[in-house]
Amino acid sequence: MGRIAYVNGRFVPHGEACVHIEDRGYQLGDGVYEVWALFDGKLADAEGHFARLERSLSELSIRMPMSRAALTIVLREAVRRNKVREGLLYLQVTRGVARRDHAFPNPEVKPAVVITVNGLDRAAVEARAAKGIGVVTTPENRWGRCDIKTVGLLPNALAKQKAREAGASEAWFVDELGFVTEGASSNAWIVGQDGRLRTRDTNANILRGVTRHTLLDVIREDGLEVDERPFTPEEAVQAREAFITGAGSLVLPVIAVDGRPVGDGAVGPVASRLRRLYIERARATAI
Ligand code: PLP
Repeated sequence: MGRIAYVNGRFVPHGEACVHIEDRGYQLGDGVYEVWALFDGKLADAEGHFARLERSLSELSIRMPMSRAALTIVLREAVRRNKVREGLLYLQVTRGVARRDHAFPNPEVKPAVVITVNGLDRAAVEARAAKGIGVVTTPENRWGRCDIKTVGLLPNALAKQKAREAGASEAWFVDELGFVTEGASSNAWIVGQDGRLRTRDTNANILRGVTRHTLLDVIREDGLEVDERPFTPEEAVQAREAFITGAGSLVLPVIAVDGRPVGDGAVGPVASRLRRLYIERARATAI
C-alpha cells in the first residue's frame, strides 16, 4: 500500500496530495509545524508537541484547526493508514488560503492542515547513532522569534546544506557573542570535563525543544547535574562529549565540531546512556 497524506480534511494518496497556490504557508511562510517521533505506531512526547503547537499558533493569531482531541484522532488515523510503527509524523498548519496580501486575511480564513507520515528503519538509525555525527558551525542569522516553530526555515535549510557539503550531519548556529544557540533542527548539548551537562537556556532565541524538555527530566532523575547556560564551539571541542536532541535525532552523539574531535573523538557513555533512557521513556509514555 502506498503512502497516504492528510490535506484539509481528506486522506489522499501521497502522490496526489496538493495545496492551493495561494496557501499563505507556501507564499509567505505564514504557518507552523510539529514533528512527533513514532514508537510502535504511537506519538512520542505527545503533550509537549500539542502544547507547543497551540502556543506557536496563538503567538501568530492562527486558530487551532480543530480541538486537541480531534487532532489526536486524525494524527492516529494518519499513522494507521500508513501502517507505520517506527518513524516520524509531520503536521503543518498555515493561516490558510487567501488572495496574496502581507496582512492577515479579513475576514479570517480556515487554517490549512497537512499531515505526512514517514517510516524509518530503527535498526539502521541506531547503527548510525552508535557512530555519532559531525556538526559544522555557522553564524546565527535567523529572526528573533525562533521560539515559534514556523515553516520559515530557509536559514535552517541553508545551514543544513552547509553541513552536508562539509560531510557533516548538523549545523550549530553561533550568535554574535560566540555562543552556540542550537542546531538547524535540534538543540545542542555538551558534557563538560567536570561531568556536568550544559545546554542553552530558553531565554535565548531558540526553539524550546520538546525532546530537550523531557531529557532534562530524565537527566535529573538519573542524578546528573545540568546547567542551562551557553557554551562556545571551543568549549564543545574541549568537552568530554557533545550531543543533539530533537524528535528526529532523539539523543544523537556529536563526535566532531568543524572537523575537530570532541573529547577523544568517540561516542561517549553519557550520550549513549541518555539516548537509551530517553527512548525507553518515550516508548513507555507514547500515546
Ligand atoms: N531546534 C530547532 C531549530 C528544531 O527545528 C528542532 C526540531 O525540529 C529542535 C530544536 C528540537 O525540537 P524537538 O525536540 O521539539 O523536536
